[in-house]
Amino acid sequence: MATQRITHWIDGAPWNGVSARAGDVFDPATGQVSGRVDLAATADVDEAVAAAVAALSQWRRSSLTARTQVLFAFRELLNARKEELAAIITAEHGKVLSDALGEVTRGLEVVEFACGIPHLLKGGFSENVSTKVDVYSIRQPLGVVGIISPFNFPAMVPMWFFPVAIACGNAVVLKPSEKDPSAAVWVAALWKEAGLPDGVFNVVHGDKEAVDRLLEHPDVRSVSFVGSTPIARYVYETGTRAGKRVQALGGAKNHMVVLPDADLDLAADAAVNAGFGSAGERCMAISALVAVGPVADELVAKIRQRMDGLTVGDGTRGCDMGPLVTAAHRDKVASYLDAGVGAGAELVVDGREQKIDGADEGFWLGPTLFDRVEPGMTLYTDEIFGPVLSVLRVGTYDEALELVNSNPYGNGTAIFTNDGGAARRYQNEVEVGMVGINVAIPVPMAYYSFGGWKHSLFGDSHAHGMEGVQFFTRGKVVTSRWADPSQRGTGGAVNLGFPTHD
Ligand code: NAD
Repeated sequence: MATQRITHWIDGAPWNGVSARAGDVFDPATGQVSGRVDLAATADVDEAVAAAVAALSQWRRSSLTARTQVLFAFRELLNARKEELAAIITAEHGKVLSDALGEVTRGLEVVEFACGIPHLLKGGFSENVSTKVDVYSIRQPLGVVGIISPFNFPAMVPMWFFPVAIACGNAVVLKPSEKDPSAAVWVAALWKEAGLPDGVFNVVHGDKEAVDRLLEHPDVRSVSFVGSTPIARYVYETGTRAGKRVQALGGAKNHMVVLPDADLDLAADAAVNAGFGSAGERCMAISALVAVGPVADELVAKIRQRMDGLTVGDGTRGCDMGPLVTAAHRDKVASYLDAGVGAGAELVVDGREQKIDGADEGFWLGPTLFDRVEPGMTLYTDEIFGPVLSVLRVGTYDEALELVNSNPYGNGTAIFTNDGGAARRYQNEVEVGMVGINVAIPVPMAYYSFGGWKHSLFGDSHAHGMEGVQFFTRGKVVTSRWADPSQRGTGGAVNLGFPTHD
């Protein structure tokens, strides 16, 4: 297969850059190299930031009407051509086409939210707070903002941030994952088609070198990061030390608690969908199923029965689940199967035995189910980020809550029950940022904010919703005095005391 070169996108056009470094991009379903992506040197990042700085002065002054027209045009183009983007995602990430289309649709919702920016940016106004004095608040863009995204949602995760950032009047430098970089460049070309001025949206590909330059560049005002916890912590600490506003979303270990009174068919369907969708490579995937009281045997049987019907293969062939993103990641995930067996967990379904509808060289591992997992096992302590679902058995609701709240991560969780009071208690007591009640993947709509607690998010701001608008703007409060025309020339009074109101 011919390999394509994937270049940066700077100032409204593809840009080759000065770095001689490049990385392989794979089609995970065939195991073949499909492209070579440029890996930016510091000078390449500087070029992108300079283009963003140059574009900023005009973009931040453009009217809300002008900005909204571009956003609506982008929304229409993306909606009309979302299948194209989904195909690019499947080709480099491996997730099945329907799932890739779902990711684009969820990103599109943030674009639609950002189309309402004139309303979202409205400030407050208080008339006559003191005689002839009014006070009002406005929100202004930060400037050049950096976005650094992970491999698992090459379109949706960048879209959590850039529609809002651009709508607020900022210029963007996006550093997508080097594992599936093509979606970002496709989106950049779409912005141009939508009428966004050159330089407002730039893409630099790369690794640590590009990230480090974004974190230290004096013209980059904020960094929005999504990825694993160790890198999220590093980005937060380094970026804030350099004086930037940083939101850094990290890894996850999401629990689904099933109470004895739950609808077990609903719970089993949800566990399979949330455990194995996108091969478990979702930050909101369920990886720990907490069976409370006597439900475990029946629940495990129902899950196993559903897993028998799952098909795994090339994402373009209508299968339920695709490959993992790289051979190295597949091998790492598979190593947890041996570790789990060695530690004494019960391997109920072994994903290595799954029949595959795809090339032998693809990065395959089928859905895997473990029962009787204990909290000390690596199956539970580590974020595996693959199609491995662990069942933990506990006796009571309190034990389940204690387990979830003791976990260092706090991204998402779900409770399955028919007892509204128990659900209400869980939503109040659980130390997790996003909670589902009989909903296994509680990803908030774009007009709410997405983000976890504890080691799943460093910083104070979650993504999109009003927190996104606040993250990408600075507040300013204006106090103004205008005399009535009939009183002009009468002056004020000299008074060196601290201003008070009359
Ligand atoms: P990753 O941390 O390896 O990479 C994320 C980004 O950081 C990439 O752009 C990568 O190029 C860059 N990077 C990698 N190593 C770096 C280093 N040493 N220094 C500086 N930058 C570096 O994550 P990934 O494997 O691409 O994505 C999977 C992870 O992302 C999982 O842990 C998952 O839970 C997490 N994730 C979290 C959320 C959330 O909302 N909390 C959403 C999606 C993914």
